[in-house]
Amino acid sequence: MNKTQTVPNLKFDIGELLDRLLGTSISYSFSEPSLYEDFDTQTTLDGKLDIMRIEKSLNVIIRDFETTIVFPSCSRCLQEFTLPIKIEHAERQFYIKEPQDLDDPNDFYLVDLKHQQIDISEMLRQEIILHFPTFLVCSNSCKGICDQCGNDRNQKDCDCQQIEVTNNPFSQLKELI
Ligand SMILES: [Zn+2]
Ligand SMILES: [Zn+2]
Repeated sequence: MNKTQTVPNLKFDIGELLDRLLGTSISYSFSEPSLYEDFDTQTTLDGKLDIMRIEKSLNVIIRDFETTIVFPSCSRCLQEFTLPIKIEHAERQFYIKEPQDLDDPNDFYLVDLKHQQIDISEMLRQEIILHFPTFLVCSNSCKGICDQCGNDRNQKDCDCQQIEVTNNPFSQLKELI
């Protein structure tokens, strides 16, 4: 994690876990405003957190997470739209000391020992972005903008002839003959 965005309200106390037996866990619920710079949300960040003491680290699970993201532009009609994002389960380790034997030395999370806290904001930011849809469209039935007159075809129809995109291999063959 080279880029870290800290959201101050996504820090959780873990002090009581550090001296406990392996396997001890604590749980939190959270419902916090988003302060991420990469994306806007219409609702709070809502979810649950399970933190378990394991060897050399804490196992952190975010579950039942929900928020609604505001996307600035549909790729068909260019209108702003919102989409709920749900994360059922995301799991990472937060190391108590910097580990020496990882494949990617940049890809780990550390417990903040000084404040006896973990900060899940970067973990959650990455998970939210991973859950973005591949095609950013306001709806699967979005008709988009007319490429002739610029009319938003979701609002009203226009009389322009839409160019049919055909992909018929035989049409070219016919011309050759
Ligand atoms: Zn659209
Ligand atoms: Zn048109």
